[in-house]
Amino acid sequence: MKRTLCIMAACALCVPSAAYISACAPQEEERSIYTITAAYDGADTLTGSVELNYLNDTENALDCLKFNLWGNAFREGAKHPAAEGLTSSSCGGMGITEVRGGTWSVGGEDENILEVVLGEPLYPDMRVSVGIDFKLDLAQADARTGVTEHTVNLGNFYPVLCAYGESGWLEYTYSQTGDPFVSETADYAVELTIPQGYTAAASGAAAESMTDGENVTLSYRLENARDFAAVLSQQFSVAERDAGGVAVKYYYYDDSEPQTVLDAAAESLNYFSEKFGKYPYSSFSVVQTGLTQGGMEYPALAMISDECRGTDAVYTAVHETAHQWWYAAVGSNQYTAAWQDEGLAEYSALMFFEDNTRYGFTRAGLTGSATKSYRAYFSVYNQLFADADTSMSRTLDEFSGEYEYANIAYNKALLMFDAVRAACGDDNFESALRRYCADYKFELAPPEGLTAAFAGYAGCEAIIRSFIDGEVII
Ligand SMILES: [Zn+2]
Repeated sequence: MKRTLCIMAACALCVPSAAYISACAPQEEERSIYTITAAYDGADTLTGSVELNYLNDTENALDCLKFNLWGNAFREGAKHPAAEGLTSSSCGGMGITEVRGGTWSVGGEDENILEVVLGEPLYPDMRVSVGIDFKLDLAQADARTGVTEHTVNLGNFYPVLCAYGESGWLEYTYSQTGDPFVSETADYAVELTIPQGYTAAASGAAAESMTDGENVTLSYRLENARDFAAVLSQQFSVAERDAGGVAVKYYYYDDSEPQTVLDAAAESLNYFSEKFGKYPYSSFSVVQTGLTQGGMEYPALAMISDECRGTDAVYTAVHETAHQWWYAAVGSNQYTAAWQDEGLAEYSALMFFEDNTRYGFTRAGLTGSATKSYRAYFSVYNQLFADADTSMSRTLDEFSGEYEYANIAYNKALLMFDAVRAACGDDNFESALRRYCADYKFELAPPEGLTAAFAGYAGCEAIIRSFIDGEVII
């Protein structure tokens, strides 16, 4: 997500058997597979079905699968609401209508978790298939999921398997601060049915489209992705260009100079591919939309708020493009260590702008702005709380709000990477990031994995620790 600028400036697949459990020796590239069908009714309802063919790549026998129902955070009365000011006429929600492959219940702290208890234990390297029928009522909200003035945002629109951590399934609740989403990579086959007249920007390019009466069904395939998202509109224009064989598209409805955002996305995609490793997908959609946050990243798709204009839009597009490496390819726990992907996205954007001066940003300007903002935050919080907690290692619900979150997860993290780079030198810094990217591609990288990438360079680990623990003076 990108908030700072707007805030600061303002076998083959082991297809399921009748018993729904099958064992097969996984091959190297085998992953879990989502098969999703979803139909949008042209108003505020999406009806769909998810078939998850899950490969147990944990080291434990599992008796259940747990899914996040992010759409339920838009229901009236949610304990952890996804957006401010939802009323009975503007709220939404996610209902489960049928589950195949186990007995099920919806629970968790905030009706945010679907638990499917399997008929028998699922041992490591075995597969199970679970089918879930759902109905998503879309809130009227400029949010990741919702109907906006010009678009329909379909982020987090289906039940998604929770990531599996050291102590089991990670059951995070929604948080308006930061991105609470943590999921493992899988392959996706998605069929999206929309009324004729709508254009869909999605995580991937539609391989096929089929018209049936008043509706069009679009088919997508996306491999090695930790999510799938789309944005629909009847008002989209599309600008497109190639970036090293990747089709980059900018969907917009109110931008008099669309080439600017398109170029920033395409050029930064090329730049990051060269610096960190090849972009993992065949297409990239940048989408102007109604969104309270400045931007939001999904695999092969970035939402850019229509409130971001000019250099704000450019900066946000580059930041979100960087998330294709630090989030989409190399995942991390965004709930417990938000600085990890946000800091890297910020610093990658700095690197791009430093080497592409025509956009008007400089390294000194960006670090200076981050320092100024961080010092103001530190001063205010020390006055308020006597001894401000400036540690970076905390969960999203431990931040007091957007102001503190932006200064810790974005500004302080940007300054940390700049200090590390100054200590180890430009070439070593880039080598370390390339190594980190290669080591954790399509995985969830722990913070220690990032620290370890700099282990060979004197002083770098200590710098990272001093920032993370809050000891450093800025
Ligand atoms: Zn971000």
